[in-house]
Amino acid sequence: EEEIPTCPLCLEELDSTDRAVKACQCGYQVCLWCLHHIREQLSARCPACRTPYEEQNFKF
Ligand SMILES: [Zn+2]
Ligand SMILES: [Zn+2]
Repeated sequence: EEEIPTCPLCLEELDSTDRAVKACQCGYQVCLWCLHHIREQLSARCPACRTPYEEQNFKF
């Protein structure tokens, strides 16, 4: 049984592109859509650890 990782915010499956982006060092992973949404509409902080999302910290 294979476990497909899903975005904890929108519950969509994370595809390989989503999973390739490490937005936060804590390992909390969201899809690119939610990542964009957080940066545009919300506080631009990781929902898990409150570390500011900054482009230079992203690992692609
Ligand atoms: Zn999402
Ligand atoms: Zn985090």
